[in-house]
Amino acid sequence: MRTASNSIVIAVDGTAASGKGTLAKRLARHFSFAHLDSGSLYRLVALSVLESGGDPAQAAKAIDLSRIGDDAIRSDRAGKKASEVSAIPEVRAALLQFQRDFAAEFDAVIDGRDIGTVICPDATAKLFVDARPQVRANRRWKELQSLGIPREEAQILAELVARDRADRSRPISPMKPALDADLLDTSDLDIDAAFAAALALVSPKVEAALKARPRG
Ligand code: C5P
Repeated sequence: MRTASNSIVIAVDGTAASGKGTLAKRLARHFSFAHLDSGSLYRLVALSVLESGGDPAQAAKAIDLSRIGDDAIRSDRAGKKASEVSAIPEVRAALLQFQRDFAAEFDAVIDGRDIGTVICPDATAKLFVDARPQVRANRRWKELQSLGIPREEAQILAELVARDRADRSRPISPMKPALDADLLDTSDLDIDAAFAAALALVSPKVEAALKARPRG
C-alpha cells in the first residue's frame, strides 16, 4: 500500500530502547530515504518544559530547536519527561501535522510508537520492534557506560518498564503494534542480524511500491 501522496513510508514502532532508532537509521540509509525520529520531537517538547517550567501545550509551539544539543535530547531524563508530555492531547495534536507532512513529502523511515497506527496507517511497510526488558536495559547500560555515564542497570530496567507501561496504557495513541505490522524481537539478535531481519520483512513491500509507482 502507498500513502495518498505516493510517497513510500516505512513505519518502525516499538518499545523504549528496543533498537528501533538504529534500525530505522540503517533502513533509511539502505533505501536512500529520509529518516524522522519522532521520539525526538516529544523529547524536545519535554526539554523545553523542563527548562521553562512552562505549559506543555505552549512549549510544543514555542520550542527553540537551535539551543538543545543531542546529548540532552537522548538523555533518560528527557525520555521520561517525553513519555509524560506525549500523553497530553494538545502536544500530540501540535506534532501530528508535522509528521504527516514529512511522510507526504519524502520517501521516509519514521520511528516512534504510533506511526503505523495513527500517523501513517497506510504506510508501505510496518515493523514493531521489541526485545526482552532485561536485554534492553543491558544494552542501554552498556551504551551509557561507553559514554562515561555510570547508571544502575536495575534502575534503567525499572524506568524502561515504567515508560513502556505508561506508553501502552495512555488513552490517546497508545503504543501498540498495528494489526498489519510485522513483529521483530531483537532479544537474541545483534544489530547486523536485526537489520538483516528487518530488511527481509520490509524489502518486498518497498520494492513492490517502488515498482508500482508511476515514473516522472
Ligand atoms: O523513542 P523515544 O524513546 O525517543 O521516545 C520518547 C517518548 O516519546 C516515548 O516514551 C513516548 O512516550 C513518546 N513518543 C510517542 N510517540 C511517538 C514517539 C515517541 O508518544 N511516535
